[in-house]
Amino acid sequence: MRALTVRPGEKGALRVEEVPDPEPGPGELLVDGLAVGVCGTDREIADALYGWAPPGRDRLVLGHESLGRVRTAPPDSGFAPGDLVAGVVRRPDPVPCGACAHGHFDMCRNGRYTERGIKEIDGYAAERWTVEADYAVRIDPALGRAGVLMEPTTVVAKAWDQIERVGRRSWFDPRTVLVTGAGPIGLLAALLGAQRGLEVHVLDRVSDGPKPRLAADLGAAYHAGDVAEVARRVRPDIVVECTGAARLVFEAMAGTGPYGIVCLTGVSSPGRTLDADIGRVNRDIVLQNDVVIGSVNANLDHYRAAADALAAADRPWLERLITRRVPLERALDAFDPRPDDVKVAITLDGGA
Ligand SMILES: [Zn+2]
Ligand SMILES: [Zn+2]
Repeated sequence: MRALTVRPGEKGALRVEEVPDPEPGPGELLVDGLAVGVCGTDREIADALYGWAPPGRDRLVLGHESLGRVRTAPPDSGFAPGDLVAGVVRRPDPVPCGACAHGHFDMCRNGRYTERGIKEIDGYAAERWTVEADYAVRIDPALGRAGVLMEPTTVVAKAWDQIERVGRRSWFDPRTVLVTGAGPIGLLAALLGAQRGLEVHVLDRVSDGPKPRLAADLGAAYHAGDVAEVARRVRPDIVVECTGAARLVFEAMAGTGPYGIVCLTGVSSPGRTLDADIGRVNRDIVLQNDVVIGSVNANLDHYRAAADALAAADRPWLERLITRRVPLERALDAFDPRPDDVKVAITLDGGA
Protein backbone atom coordinates (compact mmCIF):
# COMPACT_ATOMS: atom_id res chain seq x y z
CA MET A 1 0.00 0.00 0.00
CA ARG A 2 1.00 3.63 -0.36
CA ALA A 3 1.72 6.07 2.44
CA LEU A 4 3.02 9.61 2.81
CA THR A 5 6.28 9.43 4.71
CA VAL A 6 8.91 11.83 5.88
CA ARG A 7 12.39 11.57 7.36
CA PRO A 8 12.19 13.74 10.49
CA GLY A 9 15.06 16.17 10.69
CA GLU A 10 15.67 16.16 6.92
CA LYS A 11 14.21 18.86 4.71
CA GLY A 12 12.75 17.83 1.36
CA ALA A 13 12.35 14.17 2.38
CA LEU A 14 8.57 14.05 2.07
CA ARG A 15 7.38 11.39 -0.40
CA VAL A 16 4.61 8.96 -1.27
CA GLU A 17 5.99 5.42 -1.19
CA GLU A 18 5.08 1.75 -0.94
CA VAL A 19 5.14 0.46 2.63
CA PRO A 20 4.09 -2.93 4.08
CA ASP A 21 0.37 -3.43 4.70
CA PRO A 22 -0.48 -3.04 8.40
CA GLU A 23 -1.54 -6.12 10.39
CA PRO A 24 -4.10 -5.47 13.13
CA GLY A 25 -2.99 -6.73 16.55
CA PRO A 26 -5.36 -8.01 19.25
CA GLY A 27 -8.04 -5.41 20.01
CA GLU A 28 -7.20 -3.36 16.93
CA LEU A 29 -9.31 -2.19 14.01
CA LEU A 30 -8.10 -2.37 10.43
CA VAL A 31 -9.22 0.80 8.68
CA ASP A 32 -9.28 1.97 5.05
CA GLY A 33 -7.94 5.50 5.01
CA LEU A 34 -10.30 8.04 3.43
CA ALA A 35 -8.52 11.33 4.09
CA VAL A 36 -6.06 13.18 6.28
CA GLY A 37 -6.05 16.89 7.01
CA VAL A 38 -2.81 18.84 6.71
CA CYS A 39 -1.92 21.50 9.26
CA GLY A 40 0.99 23.62 10.43
CA THR A 41 2.40 20.72 12.46
CA ASP A 42 2.65 18.57 9.32
CA ARG A 43 4.34 21.42 7.47
CA GLU A 44 6.82 21.85 10.35
CA ILE A 45 7.62 18.12 10.22
CA ALA A 46 8.06 18.29 6.44
CA ASP A 47 10.36 21.29 6.95
CA ALA A 48 12.48 19.29 9.45
CA LEU A 49 11.53 21.57 12.35
CA TYR A 50 9.65 18.94 14.36
CA GLY A 51 8.80 15.22 14.42
CA TRP A 52 10.40 11.96 15.52
CA ALA A 53 10.55 8.63 13.64
CA PRO A 54 9.62 5.42 15.47
CA PRO A 55 12.55 3.97 17.47
CA GLY A 56 14.99 2.10 15.23
CA ARG A 57 13.64 3.64 12.00
CA ASP A 58 14.43 6.76 10.10
CA ARG A 59 11.08 7.38 8.35
CA LEU A 60 7.70 8.23 9.83
CA VAL A 61 4.28 7.89 8.21
CA LEU A 62 2.82 11.39 8.48
CA GLY A 63 -0.78 12.38 9.25
CA HIS A 64 -2.64 12.94 12.53
CA GLU A 65 -5.97 14.39 11.28
CA SER A 66 -7.57 11.12 10.25
CA LEU A 67 -10.74 9.83 8.66
CA GLY A 68 -11.24 6.20 7.72
CA ARG A 69 -13.76 3.44 7.26
CA VAL A 70 -13.48 0.28 9.39
CA ARG A 71 -12.58 -2.78 7.33
CA THR A 72 -12.31 -5.32 10.17
CA ALA A 73 -13.05 -5.01 13.88
CA PRO A 74 -12.78 -7.45 16.80
CA PRO A 75 -16.30 -8.72 17.68
CA ASP A 76 -16.37 -7.14 21.16
CA SER A 77 -14.83 -3.81 20.10
CA GLY A 78 -18.05 -1.83 19.65
CA PHE A 79 -17.10 -1.17 16.01
CA ALA A 80 -18.26 -2.89 12.84
CA PRO A 81 -17.06 -2.89 9.24
CA GLY A 82 -18.27 0.23 7.45
CA ASP A 83 -18.14 2.54 10.50
CA LEU A 84 -16.52 5.93 9.93
CA VAL A 85 -13.78 6.54 12.48
CA ALA A 86 -10.97 8.87 13.42
CA GLY A 87 -7.91 7.71 15.31
CA VAL A 88 -6.76 9.54 18.44
CA VAL A 89 -3.37 11.25 18.04
CA ARG A 90 -1.68 10.93 21.42
CA ARG A 91 -0.90 7.86 23.53
CA PRO A 92 -0.02 8.08 27.23
CA ASP A 93 3.59 7.86 28.30
CA PRO A 94 4.79 4.41 29.47
CA VAL A 95 5.60 5.39 33.07
CA PRO A 96 2.78 6.68 33.28
CA CYS A 97 2.86 10.12 34.88
CA GLY A 98 -0.04 11.07 37.14
CA ALA A 99 -1.93 12.89 34.39
CA CYS A 100 -1.62 10.00 31.91
CA ALA A 101 -2.61 7.53 34.65
CA HIS A 102 -5.86 9.49 34.95
CA GLY A 103 -6.58 9.51 31.20
CA HIS A 104 -5.40 13.11 30.89
CA PHE A 105 -2.65 12.29 28.41
CA ASP A 106 -3.19 15.69 26.80
CA MET A 107 -1.69 17.10 30.03
CA CYS A 108 1.28 14.67 30.20
CA ARG A 109 3.90 15.90 32.65
CA ASN A 110 7.02 14.00 31.64
CA GLY A 111 6.88 14.60 27.86
CA ARG A 112 7.34 10.87 27.10
CA TYR A 113 3.93 10.56 25.40
CA THR A 114 3.89 9.42 21.77
CA GLU A 115 1.77 10.76 18.89
CA ARG A 116 0.57 9.17 15.65
CA GLY A 117 2.20 10.91 12.70
CA ILE A 118 4.22 13.26 14.91
CA LYS A 119 6.20 11.55 17.64
CA GLU A 120 7.49 7.99 17.37
CA ILE A 121 4.35 6.26 16.00
CA ASP A 122 3.29 6.06 12.37
CA GLY A 123 0.45 8.36 11.38
CA TYR A 124 -2.70 7.96 9.35
CA ALA A 125 -1.63 9.23 5.90
CA ALA A 126 -1.79 5.71 4.46
CA GLU A 127 -4.23 3.72 2.36
CA ARG A 128 -4.78 1.43 5.36
CA TRP A 129 -4.04 1.81 9.05
CA THR A 130 -4.67 0.05 12.30
CA VAL A 131 -5.80 1.58 15.56
CA GLU A 132 -6.55 0.23 19.02
CA ALA A 133 -10.34 0.15 19.43
CA ASP A 134 -9.90 2.22 22.63
CA TYR A 135 -8.29 4.99 20.58
CA ALA A 136 -10.79 4.99 17.72
CA VAL A 137 -13.67 7.46 17.76
CA ARG A 138 -16.87 6.96 15.86
CA ILE A 139 -17.89 9.70 13.41
CA ASP A 140 -21.52 10.39 12.57
CA PRO A 141 -22.03 8.84 9.10
CA ALA A 142 -24.08 11.92 8.14
CA LEU A 143 -20.83 13.94 8.28
CA GLY A 144 -19.28 11.94 5.48
CA ARG A 145 -15.97 13.38 4.35
CA ALA A 146 -16.33 16.42 6.60
CA GLY A 147 -15.37 13.94 9.35
CA VAL A 148 -11.74 14.74 8.55
CA LEU A 149 -12.29 17.85 10.70
CA MET A 150 -12.57 15.67 13.81
CA GLU A 151 -9.01 16.13 15.11
CA PRO A 152 -8.85 19.93 14.74
CA THR A 153 -12.27 20.07 16.40
CA THR A 154 -10.90 18.13 19.40
CA VAL A 155 -8.29 20.86 19.82
CA VAL A 156 -10.98 23.52 20.13
CA ALA A 157 -13.24 21.26 22.22
CA LYS A 158 -10.40 21.06 24.72
CA ALA A 159 -9.84 24.81 24.59
CA TRP A 160 -13.53 25.43 25.37
CA ASP A 161 -13.43 22.82 28.15
CA GLN A 162 -10.48 24.65 29.71
CA ILE A 163 -12.18 28.04 29.36
CA GLU A 164 -15.36 26.76 31.02
CA ARG A 165 -13.53 25.06 33.88
CA VAL A 166 -11.59 28.25 34.60
CA GLY A 167 -14.73 30.35 34.25
CA ARG A 168 -16.59 28.25 36.82
CA ARG A 169 -14.13 29.21 39.57
CA SER A 170 -16.57 32.04 40.31
CA TRP A 171 -19.82 33.42 38.90
CA PHE A 172 -19.56 33.13 35.12
CA ASP A 173 -22.03 34.31 32.52
CA PRO A 174 -20.01 35.06 29.38
CA ARG A 175 -21.66 36.90 26.48
CA THR A 176 -18.95 37.59 23.91
CA VAL A 177 -16.00 35.74 22.48
CA LEU A 178 -13.31 37.11 20.19
CA VAL A 179 -11.49 34.54 18.07
CA THR A 180 -8.23 35.73 16.54
CA GLY A 181 -7.32 33.91 13.33
CA ALA A 182 -9.82 32.51 10.83
CA GLY A 183 -7.96 29.35 9.86
CA PRO A 184 -9.54 25.96 10.59
CA ILE A 185 -8.85 26.17 14.33
CA GLY A 186 -10.20 29.72 14.58
CA LEU A 187 -13.33 28.97 12.58
CA LEU A 188 -14.00 25.76 14.52
CA ALA A 189 -13.48 27.67 17.79
CA ALA A 190 -16.01 30.20 16.49
CA LEU A 191 -18.42 27.35 15.64
CA LEU A 192 -18.24 26.03 19.21
CA GLY A 193 -18.71 29.57 20.53
CA ALA A 194 -21.82 29.99 18.38
CA GLN A 195 -23.11 26.61 19.57
CA ARG A 196 -22.84 27.98 23.13
CA GLY A 197 -25.07 30.91 22.22
CA LEU A 198 -22.29 33.49 22.54
CA GLU A 199 -21.90 36.65 20.48
CA VAL A 200 -18.95 35.63 18.30
CA HIS A 201 -16.37 37.96 16.78
CA VAL A 202 -13.70 36.66 14.41
CA LEU A 203 -10.60 38.65 13.47
CA ASP A 204 -8.17 37.87 10.67
CA ARG A 205 -5.85 39.79 8.36
CA VAL A 206 -7.72 39.03 5.15
CA SER A 207 -10.79 40.91 4.02
CA ASP A 208 -11.71 38.67 1.07
CA GLY A 209 -11.62 34.98 0.15
CA PRO A 210 -13.72 32.35 1.97
CA LYS A 211 -13.04 33.36 5.58
CA PRO A 212 -15.35 36.38 6.03
CA ARG A 213 -18.29 34.44 4.54
CA LEU A 214 -17.60 31.34 6.67
CA ALA A 215 -17.62 33.53 9.79
CA ALA A 216 -20.75 35.39 8.70
CA ASP A 217 -22.58 32.11 8.07
CA LEU A 218 -22.04 31.22 11.74
CA GLY A 219 -23.73 34.50 12.65
CA ALA A 220 -20.34 35.88 13.74
CA ALA A 221 -19.09 39.42 13.19
CA TYR A 222 -15.93 39.45 11.06
CA HIS A 223 -13.18 42.01 11.57
CA ALA A 224 -10.11 42.63 9.42
CA GLY A 225 -9.02 45.66 11.44
CA ASP A 226 -6.57 46.30 14.24
CA VAL A 227 -6.89 43.79 17.11
CA ALA A 228 -6.45 46.37 19.89
CA GLU A 229 -9.18 48.55 18.42
CA VAL A 230 -11.55 45.59 17.96
CA ALA A 231 -10.91 44.31 21.49
CA ARG A 232 -11.54 47.80 22.91
CA ARG A 233 -14.88 47.92 21.11
CA VAL A 234 -15.98 44.33 21.82
CA ARG A 235 -14.55 43.97 25.37
CA PRO A 236 -14.74 40.17 25.03
CA ASP A 237 -15.39 37.93 28.03
CA ILE A 238 -13.35 35.25 26.26
CA VAL A 239 -10.58 35.40 23.68
CA VAL A 240 -9.50 32.29 21.81
CA GLU A 241 -6.17 33.18 20.22
CA CYS A 242 -5.42 30.96 17.23
CA THR A 243 -2.56 32.71 15.41
CA GLY A 244 0.42 32.60 17.75
CA ALA A 245 1.41 36.02 16.34
CA ALA A 246 3.16 37.89 19.15
CA ARG A 247 1.27 41.16 18.67
CA LEU A 248 -2.11 39.41 18.68
CA VAL A 249 -1.21 37.35 21.74
CA PHE A 250 -0.23 40.50 23.62
CA GLU A 251 -3.30 42.48 22.57
CA ALA A 252 -5.53 39.51 23.44
CA MET A 253 -4.17 39.52 26.98
CA ALA A 254 -4.57 43.29 27.18
CA GLY A 255 -8.00 43.48 25.60
CA THR A 256 -10.48 41.37 27.56
CA GLY A 257 -13.30 42.63 29.70
CA PRO A 258 -13.23 42.07 33.50
CA TYR A 259 -12.85 38.42 34.57
CA GLY A 260 -11.61 37.84 31.03
CA ILE A 261 -10.26 34.49 29.95
CA VAL A 262 -7.70 34.25 27.16
CA CYS A 263 -7.03 30.80 25.76
CA LEU A 264 -3.87 30.61 23.69
CA THR A 265 -3.84 27.84 21.07
CA GLY A 266 -1.38 29.14 18.47
CA VAL A 267 2.24 27.99 18.59
CA SER A 268 4.57 30.92 17.96
CA SER A 269 8.01 30.83 16.42
CA PRO A 270 10.44 31.85 19.16
CA GLY A 271 12.90 34.68 18.66
CA ARG A 272 10.53 37.46 17.67
CA THR A 273 10.68 40.18 20.27
CA LEU A 274 8.03 42.76 20.94
CA ASP A 275 8.23 46.14 22.61
CA ALA A 276 5.25 45.86 24.93
CA ASP A 277 3.91 47.46 28.11
CA ILE A 278 3.84 44.33 30.30
CA GLY A 279 3.13 46.49 33.36
CA ARG A 280 -0.16 47.65 31.87
CA VAL A 281 -1.20 44.10 31.03
CA ASN A 282 -0.23 42.83 34.46
CA ARG A 283 -2.22 45.62 36.09
CA ASP A 284 -5.31 44.66 34.05
CA ILE A 285 -4.94 40.94 34.70
CA VAL A 286 -4.60 41.46 38.45
CA LEU A 287 -7.27 44.13 38.91
CA GLN A 288 -9.76 42.23 36.71
CA ASN A 289 -9.07 38.65 37.86
CA ASP A 290 -8.20 37.75 34.29
CA VAL A 291 -6.72 34.37 33.31
CA VAL A 292 -4.47 33.34 30.44
CA ILE A 293 -4.42 29.62 29.63
CA GLY A 294 -2.42 27.64 27.11
CA SER A 295 -4.16 24.66 25.52
CA VAL A 296 -2.88 21.94 23.22
CA ASN A 297 -3.90 18.44 22.14
CA ALA A 298 -6.98 16.59 23.44
CA ASN A 299 -7.99 13.55 25.47
CA LEU A 300 -10.82 11.08 24.83
CA ASP A 301 -13.42 13.32 26.50
CA HIS A 302 -12.56 16.04 23.99
CA TYR A 303 -12.91 13.61 21.09
CA ARG A 304 -16.42 12.79 22.31
CA ALA A 305 -17.23 16.50 22.70
CA ALA A 306 -15.87 17.19 19.22
CA ALA A 307 -17.96 14.38 17.72
CA ASP A 308 -21.07 15.94 19.27
CA ALA A 309 -20.12 19.45 18.07
CA LEU A 310 -19.57 18.25 14.51
CA ALA A 311 -22.80 16.23 14.51
CA ALA A 312 -24.69 19.38 15.57
CA ALA A 313 -23.02 21.59 12.94
CA ASP A 314 -24.23 22.40 9.44
CA ARG A 315 -22.57 19.87 7.13
CA PRO A 316 -22.30 22.15 4.06
CA TRP A 317 -20.58 24.76 6.27
CA LEU A 318 -18.09 22.15 7.49
CA GLU A 319 -17.43 21.04 3.93
CA ARG A 320 -16.68 24.61 2.90
CA LEU A 321 -13.89 24.67 5.51
CA ILE A 322 -12.11 22.06 3.40
CA THR A 323 -11.13 24.39 0.59
CA ARG A 324 -8.80 22.03 -1.24
CA ARG A 325 -8.54 18.24 -1.59
CA VAL A 326 -5.57 16.62 -3.25
CA PRO A 327 -5.17 12.92 -4.05
CA LEU A 328 -2.43 10.94 -2.31
CA GLU A 329 -0.25 10.79 -5.45
CA ARG A 330 -0.09 14.59 -5.44
CA ALA A 331 0.13 14.88 -1.64
CA LEU A 332 3.14 17.20 -1.79
CA ASP A 333 0.90 19.89 -3.34
CA ALA A 334 -0.95 20.06 -0.02
CA PHE A 335 2.23 21.39 1.60
CA ASP A 336 2.35 24.51 -0.57
CA PRO A 337 -0.13 26.85 1.10
CA ARG A 338 -2.33 28.97 -1.15
CA PRO A 339 -3.86 32.29 -0.12
CA ASP A 340 -7.47 31.03 -0.06
CA ASP A 341 -6.75 27.78 1.80
CA VAL A 342 -8.62 27.13 4.99
CA LYS A 343 -8.19 23.37 5.48
CA VAL A 344 -6.37 21.24 2.91
CA ALA A 345 -7.03 17.49 2.94
CA ILE A 346 -5.28 14.61 1.20
CA THR A 347 -7.68 11.95 -0.09
CA LEU A 348 -6.43 8.40 0.40
CA ASP A 349 -8.99 6.30 -1.49
CA GLY A 350 -9.36 8.18 -4.77
CA GLY A 351 -12.69 9.65 -3.53
CA ALA A 352 -13.65 13.28 -3.95
ZN1 LIG B 1 -3.09 19.16 12.98
ZN1 LIG C 1 2.30 11.37 30.95
